[in-house]
Order: sequence, then C-alpha cells, then structure tokens
Amino acid sequence: MTTFDEIKSSSPDMFPESVHVECREGWAGIVASFLLDARMVCIANATDLRVLAVRQDLGALRIDAEYESADKWLFSRFLLLAEFRSRVTCEECGRPGHMRTTGGWKRCRCDEHSTPEEREQPPRPAWTLGRETSKGFLWYDQAIDDVRIVDDLASIGMPAHHIERRKDGL
Ligand SMILES: [Zn+2]
Repeated sequence: MTTFDEIKSSSPDMFPESVHVECREGWAGIVASFLLDARMVCIANATDLRVLAVRQDLGALRIDAEYESADKWLFSRFLLLAEFRSRVTCEECGRPGHMRTTGGWKRCRCDEHSTPEEREQPPRPAWTLGRETSKGFLWYDQAIDDVRIVDDLASIGMPAHHIERRKDGL
C-alpha cells in the first residue's frame, strides 16, 4: 500500500514535507493517482501545482492545493475524482468501502474497519457520487473509475432534486 511518506519522497515538488496530512493512510493511493494526473496537466500546460494539505472532511478526502486560478478547471476534475474515489475507499486500509455514520460523524470504511453498527449501514446509490459544475453534471462512474459529464441525469438514475451543489462551485 502506498504511504504518504512515500509520496513525499517521490514527489517533493508537488507534495513537499510541509503538507498537512489529516487523514488515514488508506487514501494515500488516491492522492498518488491524483498527483500522476495533475503532473500530466502541469506538463501539458506549463504550470505548477503544489499540495498544501490532505484531510478528511465530512467523511471524504479533500486535497487543498495551490495553482494559478486560471487553471481551476484543469485540476478540479481530478480533485473531484479523488474525492469521489475516497467515498468508496476505506480510509484505514484502501480497500473498497462506503460512507458510514456514527454519532453524526461520517467516515468511509470497509466492513473490517467498521463497527458492528456501521456494518448494518448500506452503501448509498452510485448516482449520488457527482457534482454540478460549470461544465455540467460531473459524475463518478465506478465501472470505469473515472468522472464524466452527464447530460441526461435520468440515464444514471439521478433524480434532479438530489443534485449536490456547493457554494465553492467550479
Ligand atoms: Zn478497511
């Protein structure tokens, strides 16, 4: 399993020693994949990205990174992909899991790393993993482990009133 220490030593330019890591090691593989994608974007667009923090927020992985504001969309697709992946990946061990709630706190865990009560909680439907963006509804298609813009929400079973909107919209 990839660790955050390994990422720091292999990608010190994008993920320096100073990065605040406030999540468990199970998500390090997701961060490593994000950095691979981000590096390709950086090379293609002659720009830079530097991660400031990786943290668990409302049960999901958030990657805080700095880059030129004009590059927002270039990276936002990959930032969202990382977040969606974290919602189906155990934060402890990196194996498949899903979001559980204990005492009002959300956390993504596999069955092994769940409490008996959490094990009773079923996964949310796959269509919940998406976000409205300036380019359209960006949906995480678990079958291909990637995100894509979906024009017809009915095609993925998504009721329109369930669309998740964020004030920091992309
Ligand atoms: Zn686990």
